[in-house]
Amino acid sequence: MLFSSDFLYEVFPDATKQQEFIIAEVNTDSRKEATDSLFVPIRGERFDAHAFIEQAVAQGAVASLWDRTLPIPEAASSIVLFLVDDTLEALQRLAKAHREAIDPIVVGITGSNGKTTTKDLVTSVLKEKYEVLATKGNLNNHIGLPLTVLSMQPSCEVLVLEMGMSNFGEIELLSQIAQPDYAIITNIGESHIEFLGSREGIAKAKSEITAGLAEDGVLIIDGDEPLLAFHHDKETTITCGFEEHNKQQLKIEQTLDAATAFSVNGENYTFSLLGAHNVRNAGYAIVLGKELGVDQQLIQHALLTPSMTGMRMEQLAGKNGSKIINDAYNASPTSMKAAIGTVQGLPFARRILVLGDIYEIGTESKRYHRDIAEAITADTTHVFTIGEDADEITDALKDTPITAVHFGDKESLAKAVLPLLQQDTIVLLKASRGMKLESILDTIAVME
Ligand code: ATP
Ligand code: MG
Repeated sequence: MLFSSDFLYEVFPDATKQQEFIIAEVNTDSRKEATDSLFVPIRGERFDAHAFIEQAVAQGAVASLWDRTLPIPEAASSIVLFLVDDTLEALQRLAKAHREAIDPIVVGITGSNGKTTTKDLVTSVLKEKYEVLATKGNLNNHIGLPLTVLSMQPSCEVLVLEMGMSNFGEIELLSQIAQPDYAIITNIGESHIEFLGSREGIAKAKSEITAGLAEDGVLIIDGDEPLLAFHHDKETTITCGFEEHNKQQLKIEQTLDAATAFSVNGENYTFSLLGAHNVRNAGYAIVLGKELGVDQQLIQHALLTPSMTGMRMEQLAGKNGSKIINDAYNASPTSMKAAIGTVQGLPFARRILVLGDIYEIGTESKRYHRDIAEAITADTTHVFTIGEDADEITDALKDTPITAVHFGDKESLAKAVLPLLQQDTIVLLKASRGMKLESILDTIAVME
């Protein structure tokens, strides 16, 4: 049981009738079977879910939020309707009340890149000691976050929430719902720069996570990012990064071909992810684990066997004994350069970069794509691109010894990669989500 009817009557005093019941689940999707659920009809761009109340009742709704300006439908006569001005705002208010009622330790995670990865690592570490609920997949917006909070059982000890955004004010709202005890800003990149104007704007928008942070709450940030330096003075801020001034200093000790050995303030760890950016993400998880009293050995154990969401620097077997790094979940200029840098640092003779378009980077998109070429060194042997603007990358490389080719479709690209695959070869796949670059895995990866 999530909560009783008493709780709902308290949060929403205006109801169609008084009745006792319990709620097992809060649901926004009327197509889903949901016994003993509270239905929350949300008005989207194309549909208004109020129209699906009959179906929601058939699927097991025992109560529903309801826009008070709409007529009360016959189909809802058997259940309790809570009348509200705006069902989305009401969902958010209910999430806030539920968070306050259960009162777990709340961790909020924002940043341009690395939120999901950090969330997965934090969750793996904290699960060594606590009952943890974390955001599933990428449900990190103004609807996904409240729904995650509202899936929290009373026994939950730690709630780990990913907070995403594309404009000012969004993280502030999420932070006020979640009221984190610990807030993490993973990094400042360029994603959504078209709405936020500049990297300064991005840093300001991410910093909204402090809006709901508890009075004595701890802020953990990328200490190497100058745009976040205005947080440094605060005693409760923990800076984490590679530079010497950080309170928690990271150092990469050794890069192996499927793992990274690194240290945090001199304490050694090994973990099964690649890339300096992932060492940062692990650093946040370690700092938090220590803050919350998880033993060092248990932290180390969690980092070797983390349970990760797919397509983020995911290591796969390629055909003919080759290796594939599937980082095709999403891309920004920062994350693309980071992934390229990582692959160029790994011990392989042939390195193939398969790069697609980066979306949502505004009017300077072509320049951002062209700049990617600056991160590509002679350690790379082949660069294959696809998309509207990614040809800027291959174009910028045309006078170098690197084989750089732009393709018009994924099939021909995949066919060009296939004969190059052999033992000492590594392939990186990286592009924005809409490119669905992972579809070439059918051709180049060993399928299980
Ligand atoms: P989204 O905004 O799509 O939810 P996210 O912030 O959750 O993204 P992840 O899914 O964890 O980010 O990682 C996406 C990609 O960003 C990774 O594949 C990696 O290339 C890059 N990345 C991860 N961590 C960092 C970091 N700390 N700094 C820079 N780039 C990173
Ligand atoms: Mg994410």
